[in-house]
This record gives sequence, C-alpha cells and structure tokens, in this order.
Amino acid sequence: MAQKNTLTTSMTSKTTPVTSTISQLKPNVRHQTLLARVVRKWYRPEFLIPNQHATIEILLLDIEKNIIQATVRKLLVDRFDPRVVEGVAYKITGFKVAENNGSEVATPQPFRLYFEIGTLVLQSPNSPIPRYGFSFQEFGDIIANDSLDKHFIDVVGQFVGVGELKKTTGGHPIKTVKLENIELNEGNDPVSSCITQITNEHTDILSTDNILSIKEIKYCQRAGDYVTLASIDDLESSIGWYYDSCKLCRTKVELHQDNLWHCKKKQCDGFTKGLKTKVPRLILTA
Ligand SMILES: [Zn+2]
Repeated sequence: MAQKNTLTTSMTSKTTPVTSTISQLKPNVRHQTLLARVVRKWYRPEFLIPNQHATIEILLLDIEKNIIQATVRKLLVDRFDPRVVEGVAYKITGFKVAENNGSEVATPQPFRLYFEIGTLVLQSPNSPIPRYGFSFQEFGDIIANDSLDKHFIDVVGQFVGVGELKKTTGGHPIKTVKLENIELNEGNDPVSSCITQITNEHTDILSTDNILSIKEIKYCQRAGDYVTLASIDDLESSIGWYYDSCKLCRTKVELHQDNLWHCKKKQCDGFTKGLKTKVPRLILTA
C-alpha cells in the first residue's frame, strides 16, 4: 500500500502541469494553470461600508484574447492585493472554477475564477499577451441591446460633460457623465449619438488622483487616464486649433479624390488604403 502511494506521488511530480487557456478551463477541476494578464483590477466595497473591501475583482486576458473574471474573497484580500498588479502577466495555479454568478458579473463567460488560500501567482515577464482586451461597442448598440447592460463593456468617446452629484431614491450618490462619439461623418457633422453614463462617486474620473498639468502631460511616460483642469485662453486660428488625424497613427490626414482620408505617414496602412473616418485631435501647447 505504502509503495503504491510513493509511486503515485513520484508520477505526479514528474508530470508537467498543463497550462489551459480560458476557453479550456473546466469547472470543479483542481490544479489547472492559466497564463493571463491582469487588464483590470478593482475593489468591491463592503455593503454600507464603502472604505472596506468585500472582494477584489480582476479581469484576466489570455493569449486567445478571451477575458475571464476572477474574484478574491474578503479573507484573502490582504494576501493577494499586493501580489496581483494591474497590467502584469501571471501564471496562476490552483484556483477554483465556478459558475459566473454573484455580484458584478463583468464578462459573459460561463465561469469565474476564485482565488483560494493555496492559489499560486507567479509573474510571467515578457508575456506576449497584449496589455488591453477591449471590445468596443457602438453607442446605438448599447442603448438598443438590453443584454449588454449585464456585463462590462468598453466605449471610446469624447468626455463632454458631467452632471451634478445627486442622490438616488436609495440614497446612493450618482453623477451623470456625457460621452460623445469622437469620429466625424464625411460631411464634418459630428455623429449625434451620445450616451449618458451613470456612475457613482467611487468611479468618477474627476475624483481621480491622476491630475496632471498640460506641461506634465508632455513629459508623462506612463499610459493611463489623467485629468487636467484648464480654461481656454485663446484659439489658435492661423494653423487651426485641431487637426484631422489618422485613426491608426495620429498623423495628419488629407481627403483624396477617392473620398477617403489618407494618412501622410508612408509606413502607415492609412497612407495606401485610406480611411473612411478621421479623428479630430486637439493641439495643446504649454
Ligand atoms: Zn496613419
């Protein structure tokens, strides 16, 4: 009997752990390993105690560009908070895979990962997994498609306004944020679709600590969301206060006879193929 046990142990230790992708993960199977990058990390506050963390919620992106949510329960928050950093890729072993239900279901994946006391999190430097796993949605689709409000979605837009801080009937503070599509039609009229996003104080981008002056933006080395408070001093009318830019590389574009916007940078795909839309980009001087 003892001999049999020894044999089993030695066979297990020689077996290389199989690394799964998100689509290969199975529920209720132990010792699965996932290579993934933390693309988002946030804290779900304790009910009625906003400065205490009930859980850490994490979005993990794998090489197949699938995203899965992972949850760190309250008792393990202190253990994993310093070990899981947004933007870093990890090899994660020994987690639980369970049905994707409960609070704040961010992805339509059928499963969610739960970190456990024995979960092993090892940094995986030089991972080819991209930094972001966006899946952008059109404003019209968000409004028309009820199923989209179940999960977290990505929107790109110009931030055009923020409403007053109000209270819901339940007493929760809410603010309305207005976003506008940043792409223009061929005829230069702004696309009229706007969306109103309700947020709470916790996620209000104006309450972020990442405040930079215009001068600091120029020397900023780190990509991220920053807030700048500025008043318009004057409009540059001789060269224009904004330029029409390429969606792919931000270089200036020009309208050609084929009715497409062509990028001025020869190495860019927008130079040869041309683009249907352009992005107005502001010129900031400091
Ligand atoms: Zn370009």
